[in-house]
Amino acid sequence: MKRVAVIGGGLGGLSAAGELARAGHGVTLFEGSGTLGGKAQAFTHDGLTFDTGPTLLTLPDTVREQFRRLDAEALLPRFHRLELQARYRYPDGRDFLCWEQLERAAESARAFHPRDGAGLLSFAKAAEVIYRAAGEPYLEAPYEGLSGFMARALKRGPGTMLTGLKLSTLDVLAREHFASEELRQFAGRFATYTGASPYEASAAFAMIAHLERAYGVSHVEGGMGALVRALTAAVQRLGVTLHLGERARFEKRGARFLVGPAGGEAEFDALVVNADPLALTGRGAEPLALSGYVFFVDVDRRLPLPHHTIVFTRSYRQEFEQLFSGQVPHEPTVYVCHPAATDGTMAPERRSGLFVMVNVPAFVDRARAEEEWPRRAEALKAFCLDCLRRHFPQLREASLRVVGERTPLDLADRGAPGGSIYGFLPHGKLGPFRRPRLVGPERGLFFAGGGTHPGGGVPLVMLSGRFAAGLARRHLEGRA
Ligand SMILES: Cc1cc2nc3c(=O)[nH]c(=O)nc-3n(C[C@H](O)[C@H](O)[C@H](O)COP(=O)(O)OP(=O)(O)OC[C@H]3O[C@@H](n4cnc5c(N)ncnc54)[C@H](O)[C@@H]3O)c2cc1C
Repeated sequence: MKRVAVIGGGLGGLSAAGELARAGHGVTLFEGSGTLGGKAQAFTHDGLTFDTGPTLLTLPDTVREQFRRLDAEALLPRFHRLELQARYRYPDGRDFLCWEQLERAAESARAFHPRDGAGLLSFAKAAEVIYRAAGEPYLEAPYEGLSGFMARALKRGPGTMLTGLKLSTLDVLAREHFASEELRQFAGRFATYTGASPYEASAAFAMIAHLERAYGVSHVEGGMGALVRALTAAVQRLGVTLHLGERARFEKRGARFLVGPAGGEAEFDALVVNADPLALTGRGAEPLALSGYVFFVDVDRRLPLPHHTIVFTRSYRQEFEQLFSGQVPHEPTVYVCHPAATDGTMAPERRSGLFVMVNVPAFVDRARAEEEWPRRAEALKAFCLDCLRRHFPQLREASLRVVGERTPLDLADRGAPGGSIYGFLPHGKLGPFRRPRLVGPERGLFFAGGGTHPGGGVPLVMLSGRFAAGLARRHLEGRA
């Protein structure tokens, strides 16, 4: 039995810890804050449950598989698959209803332009081709270099690979399939799942549209907090030693690592770091993916809002130009999550809790961000509440009480560089291939989490933890 340290108790770190413990190694996990889950936090307020980070689950089977590998399927909360994946609202008051069932969604798209119904079908097909050609080989094994990826991609046939890889930006792909600006905005939004701009990120991110279509958009009963509790129980059962409130540092000592809080370090044979890898790999000066501003609303009645609503801005291009020049957009796109629409455990009867989020830039200068955020937060809250009241009459009559908020500074306090949700910014044609790798710069050091391969989001960080643990095992068991 070898000794392994894991720094960081986000979903990627917990998954890596569980995998290594399941393989028989002695695992100690250090989490700097007082709670596990990293960005996936939650709180309750007067009977309402609010997730403060992830709200939407894609690839539920990847999560199930992670629990199965940890012998913990029985601990998994129930997943609810949403028939209406999201309602997209446009400034003129029209809605695109994105049903899981493609034909039904296409009917809604047709109202924007007679060609956009067929456009949705062809976009879905293109997204599937991209997934088969590039997504599957990218997700099926740790990314250790372009040649290994190409070899996996070629197994699917050179034709598929060429179709999948002759990619432009996501916006260009959207223009090829949709005639209306509204549906182009819908397609472009998938870039924000990685904190990127549709005008700069590769069309490869259309694969997210395919994943949502093929595997659904789900809600975790009880919220993401319930998933974190279940994963914590699973790793505890496997004997992982958890140290909360211990910000760890590390140092290489010969073939081993000295890891722990200052003054309390111990020796380990391998180390998995679940913190963002950019700074640790000498890439701390790179531009960062987007951050987010989120606030939470207690509503005195049960609203007829669907689970996910996106109210688009008038000019999407301008929004991203502002975001990537470091400004908070004047008129941001607003995302609202209303989990009580699906899950009665999230709010008492006749009440609703809303998670309201806008994209904002990651910050470069902490002191300046501390000075600016109180004023920015007030302005954003006022903008969002006004926007929601304008679009949804039911909200005009209701009493809305803001009961909490999270700024990029809160994300930065949990180790996110500049408050960036995803860290690495995958802009450019080869963006996804420039991610910091799972194998760190020191022998025996591995990364897991949203900042490394395969990327951010709940299922992918679990996959990342699994991959990092696999590489760490190879090292510990002398197979590297
Ligand atoms: C507002 C918001 C909305 C999101 N929405 C979605 C969504 O709907 N669906 C989705 O799938 N994903 C979403 N995400 C993304 C998702 O939450 C993240 O990609 C994922 O949770 C990150 O997991 P991780 O393993 O990278 O670890 P993180 O969550 O980044 O956790 C890392 C942990 O490491 C700890 N740490 C760092 N340095 C040290 C140190 N030196 N010592 C000890 N501990 C340390 C930190 O305290 C932290 O707890 C959202 C995120 C945010 C913030």
